[in-house]
Amino acid sequence: MRIDEEIDRLKKRLEELELERDALLRANIAGQDPSTTSPAPEPALRSWDNTVAHGLKKDTIERFSRQIILPSFGVGSQAMLHNGSVLVVGAGGLGSPALLYLAAAGVGRIGIVDRDSVELSNIHRQVIHKESSVGMHKTASAKEALLAINSATRIEEHTEGFTPYNALELVKNYDVVLDASDNAPTRYLISDACCVANKPLVSGAAIGTDGQLTVYHYGKDGPCYRCLYPTPPPATSCARCVDAGVLGPVPGIIGTMQALEVIKILSGIGDVFSKKMLVMDALYCRYMVVKLRSRNECCAACGDHPEITAERLPEFDYDTFTGQAPTDAPVGLNLLDDEERIRAGDLETRTKNRLLLDVRPAHQFEICSIPGACNVPMSSFQADDVVNMVKEGGFEEVVVICRRGNQSQRALLALKAAGIQDVADVVDVVGGMASWSRDVDGSCPIY
Ligand code: ZN
Repeated sequence: MRIDEEIDRLKKRLEELELERDALLRANIAGQDPSTTSPAPEPALRSWDNTVAHGLKKDTIERFSRQIILPSFGVGSQAMLHNGSVLVVGAGGLGSPALLYLAAAGVGRIGIVDRDSVELSNIHRQVIHKESSVGMHKTASAKEALLAINSATRIEEHTEGFTPYNALELVKNYDVVLDASDNAPTRYLISDACCVANKPLVSGAAIGTDGQLTVYHYGKDGPCYRCLYPTPPPATSCARCVDAGVLGPVPGIIGTMQALEVIKILSGIGDVFSKKMLVMDALYCRYMVVKLRSRNECCAACGDHPEITAERLPEFDYDTFTGQAPTDAPVGLNLLDDEERIRAGDLETRTKNRLLLDVRPAHQFEICSIPGACNVPMSSFQADDVVNMVKEGGFEEVVVICRRGNQSQRALLALKAAGIQDVADVVDVVGGMASWSRDVDGSCPIY
């Protein structure tokens, strides 16, 4: 055989394989067997009803022309986006940029799940919301912003929690799911629901200055969240934005990358980021890709004989399994007896010679503090040293305060273990500096 004949043969074979790959990608999105689906008929070019190639209208093609002219994208991919749908769980730091780019790119139908309302402290990173949206449901605020960008996109609001009772019903109505949640129970639940409903899951996480990205349950051997983490990490090792803080562009970058993966899945272009995880250290601009194991055949959610099924999922107790609540709200500890605790308002009326001990980190103490308070951060807290300080200072009472009244309880228990009660009385302040600000000094910011 002549060499140019061989080249022609290989080119033909390549075209056939590319067609097969496109069919597989479409079938994977739809959760169908590609052998049983017939290819969608190509609409003929018709100028008389303003509809042109792939069923898209002339103005739609003009609007998205900058991505349509990409050789790797084209009008076929635009049509797939137009006919595609995505469920975004969480309209916060990750969900904001993801939603904006998905609507802007021309995804036909977008569902948004979030039960929270917009708070002023959200807006530095949740860029879909505005100052005037404070107090509005995040779903309504996001819908308004998305329709302002692309009025042709169908936006479906789900102003409710994502729970074991509604998870499957929500997930099964969309082609792809984007996890923009912020807590462990919801992460497990979304992943399990995607396994049961056979939907790809684009997962992102951002905390502090670190970010992560991967696509779960994609293709025949892509792992799910449970494959990677069959046992949840201890609740104490899970940082949350409300405690640890987050720099706005960090979820901005990860959420944007999540939108990109959704676009790739829906439009059938590129390599979907499955069986790999991107780990980003934004502070030092380090990006690392870690290879992940394939699907675990024994996985409780996506294994060959899964324990999590459509019938069992609604009964699964995700809060107990992870030891956490599915919320970003502050957790209130109660480790002390009532007589060991005072209200912020009581501070001004107590007349004993006291040591006011503020156990917050130094950078939080810098935000605001009560006059006369002594800052001993928990990270360097030595109960014996404090007891000595109280003895030497001749204090009659120690009052411990922190940000919200949790760490102060732990500090008080440590002081008791070191024998403080033999030297002075000891109490903590319920609700910490947040209560001080609310009840006594409104000029002190609540953060
Ligand atoms: Zn799995």
